[in-house]
Amino acid sequence: MPRTSHVQKTNEPASHQGLLKEGDMCIDAADECPWFPQNRLIDEMKQLPAETVRLLSSSQVITSVVSVVKELVENSLDAGASSVDVKLENFGLDRIEVVDNGCGIKAADAPVMAVKHYTSKISCHSDLERLETYGFRGEALGSICAVSEVILTTKTADDNVSTQYTLDHNGNVTSRKPSHLGQGATVSVFKLFKNLPVRRQFYSSSKKCKEELRKVQELLMAYGIIRPALRVLLTHNKAVVWLKAKALDHRTALMAALGTSTVASMVPLQHRQEQPEIILEGFFPKPGSNPSLMSSTTPDRTFVFINNRPVHHRDILKLLKRQYGAHVGGEGAPSRYPALMLSVTVTASAVDVNLTPDKTQVMLQCKEAVLLALETMLTSLYCPESSGPPPIVPKDPKCRVEEDPVCQTAPDCPGPPAVDDTAQVTPSDRHSECEKPVSENTTSRSANTSSSSSSEDWVINSSCSFELNLSLTGEDGITNVTGVSEPDIVDGPKPGRDSSSCVPEVSPVSWSMGRGLLDPDTGQAISPMRVHVSVPEPKKAAKLTAYDLISNRTVRQPLSASAMFEQENRTTVQREKPDASEQDVSTALEERWKNLGVQERKKYEEKAEKDLLRYHLQSKRAAERVSSEKHPRPSPPAGPGQKRKAPLSNLQVLDQLFLQPPSKKKLPPEKQSIPVAFSLAALRQRLIRTTMGRRIDSDTGGVQLVGRLPSHSAWVILRGSHLLLLDPSRIEEVLLFTQLLETNIIPTRLLDAPVTLTNSVLGDPANMRALCSMQKDPPELSGAAYFTDPRLVANGFQIRQIPGPLSPEPHLEVAAMADCIPCFGVGDLKEILRAVVERQAASVKECRPLKVCNYLEGEAVRLVRQLPLCLSQEDVRDTLSRLDRQLGTARHTCLHGRPFFHPLAKVPVTEQDPPTSC
Ligand code: ADP
Ligand code: MG
Repeated sequence: MPRTSHVQKTNEPASHQGLLKEGDMCIDAADECPWFPQNRLIDEMKQLPAETVRLLSSSQVITSVVSVVKELVENSLDAGASSVDVKLENFGLDRIEVVDNGCGIKAADAPVMAVKHYTSKISCHSDLERLETYGFRGEALGSICAVSEVILTTKTADDNVSTQYTLDHNGNVTSRKPSHLGQGATVSVFKLFKNLPVRRQFYSSSKKCKEELRKVQELLMAYGIIRPALRVLLTHNKAVVWLKAKALDHRTALMAALGTSTVASMVPLQHRQEQPEIILEGFFPKPGSNPSLMSSTTPDRTFVFINNRPVHHRDILKLLKRQYGAHVGGEGAPSRYPALMLSVTVTASAVDVNLTPDKTQVMLQCKEAVLLALETMLTSLYCPESSGPPPIVPKDPKCRVEEDPVCQTAPDCPGPPAVDDTAQVTPSDRHSECEKPVSENTTSRSANTSSSSSSEDWVINSSCSFELNLSLTGEDGITNVTGVSEPDIVDGPKPGRDSSSCVPEVSPVSWSMGRGLLDPDTGQAISPMRVHVSVPEPKKAAKLTAYDLISNRTVRQPLSASAMFEQENRTTVQREKPDASEQDVSTALEERWKNLGVQERKKYEEKAEKDLLRYHLQSKRAAERVSSEKHPRPSPPAGPGQKRKAPLSNLQVLDQLFLQPPSKKKLPPEKQSIPVAFSLAALRQRLIRTTMGRRIDSDTGGVQLVGRLPSHSAWVILRGSHLLLLDPSRIEEVLLFTQLLETNIIPTRLLDAPVTLTNSVLGDPANMRALCSMQKDPPELSGAAYFTDPRLVANGFQIRQIPGPLSPEPHLEVAAMADCIPCFGVGDLKEILRAVVERQAASVKECRPLKVCNYLEGEAVRLVRQLPLCLSQEDVRDTLSRLDRQLGTARHTCLHGRPFFHPLAKVPVTEQDPPTSC
């Protein structure tokens, strides 16, 4: 280690040598502290051995399993990988393997790739000003080598075969051999922290290990969200923990991480400003959305990025929490973190990532400006009335515009109309609360737009330093047409312009959109031209996860007919077009699927149906197996004539691997028991004393919380004289599922070709009659009227009625449909209509099709899994009181049939009463 020049080999106090600044506390340590080593300062100084220095600095970079995964995944992303597999064994302590398909490492670079301070990403310090890669310190691989055993296999596009390199503790290559892997790099890290026993010891409890696995998953989710096109797979002991397919956009990527129902309750926001240049964009909980669904006590679902780097920025998190808490209100609200994605982009030179060796902290040069911009954006979303000036009323009465009656009066409108002003109503988000076609709503939209513009001006005037360009986009992420950044064409009065002039100013955008002027005779907006909303080509949604986790078992999700076709024909297409990118191959496959003959298509549809049956069967079995595991049948002794067991299916093998403890794990030491003096009478006295002071909650169903059992994430409770074990997550699952059944709106996507609905398609004229009698919007100018009945909309159907071209009979067609549910189609619409016809189902909940129920069940399970394992006393009380209020005694088991309360013992009341265990 180089000696630092200010080290003084003298007994003179530091202050005398001018080393301490004014205000520093000056204590002569040797005099004041009896425990201070007396000869410390005069000890001979030695240079630490290189080995020790390496270990010390490496353990600052590599602090945990997550930090290894982080460094390796960042290397993969820097290498341009579009697919990253992270495989852990024994929670990463035995093996961490990251496989990517990036550019790989050239043979010439291999000798130094893991030597510390060798990097291909920067050449000098000033390059940090333009940094676009995650890595730059050239330290990660070397540090990992210092604390574990590393093998790296890699192949570049120019190599014929891959090469496997074994690295030593200094990062030097000790051996190399040819290997069979494809292009990219595979880094295998064995025996992490084998030379740091204290750190390894840290992972000795299973709770810590599980926590670490959860953190790895969260980290991968963060990269999966900020890089939608990235495919990510996380496995633990060979079982799939999380899989994200390549996604089209941030929204779809967010769905893979948070689930579709959470994302359906989010709204996209964007803000851009210059001086300092800041872009904020992301998805935030919709105003009025359910806080228990959209927030949690930990920030695991608050994904914040600075220049595409996942960060935990304390001030940003604090602000998010405060703003969301103020909007939600209620006790405990200020301490809840909203589920969201926020991406902050600033110029590279305004960020310093080189604060800590592990790059987990970043310093923002323009922190105050970022916080101000974020605060303004959140205020506009959550409390618009406080963010803008009073609405500007044009002086010319002809230009007076009315408020949107729908937005004003609809009880479930998520927020005051001004918030929604720039939201472009697109055909696919008609089911949203303020449902009005653009052409119909021009007046109300213009009213809102003007107030939005004035709010823009207010921001400009108040902060003077930046221009707010807030844009809300529709559910499908279709960018609004009013979010134009050029100052000249932004709606509304501008600073410096004479807004008090008698003739109200009409901007070109406002005019061209038909919102500028009203026809004095009809009161209708003069619409010189129809606005063309560029609807992104509806593409097949990427599959989010390949497996469902049902009762802790992975069940492969069913494939749709087109997905089966794709799967079977992908290699053929790849062979035919070896140079085609993944995207081109997918497009070619989509083309082929569209042009497929009827017979062929039928073949795949039949296969898909079979696969769906298989899925239902396996899900059922998975749920049943849980109950049979609890009461295992005694197996008959194996006899000579006994039948051989059928080989295990893949699924069973996967189950076993998942449940199987890691092979080399040592048995935990036997628990020691210590006799404790105990008196039942004293305990009773004490209980009487404590229960007298404590109220038995009537809103928790007369239940008293006794204490938490952390090892099982459960609570011991007392109901009457019965001591019970409670798993709050089982109750949460059911409550959430019930709530989703009642309120969840399944998101839809526009269909390539609308499906015409006729009597024969709907199977029964009664179904058609029921459909026609459902609630719809008044027709648009084009004559098309959209059905707004919640039973259709919430179940993922957007249906429109258009005047028939030939006959006076109206023509009905499905314009958009849910795409998050496999094999969803007209059959499910028939199921809704049958419920209406046969059971007079009037509410959404009563006519949920089976597939929707299954989907919502899966969503509820997935969301509850994201709750923290250790719930606080308040949380459990709240859960119990909601159970009491919402379900009463109607239900006692969770979605998988497991009881909420497990009897433990009956507490004796009298001395003679023997305690009975249940
Ligand atoms: P840094 O990322 O800071 O440059 P690392 O020690 O993480 O330092 O990596 C050293 C170098 O090894 C990188 O600069 C890069 O050139 C190469 N490298 C590491 N991992 C990969 C990978 N997965 N694919 C391609 N190159 C890699
Ligand atoms: Mg790196």
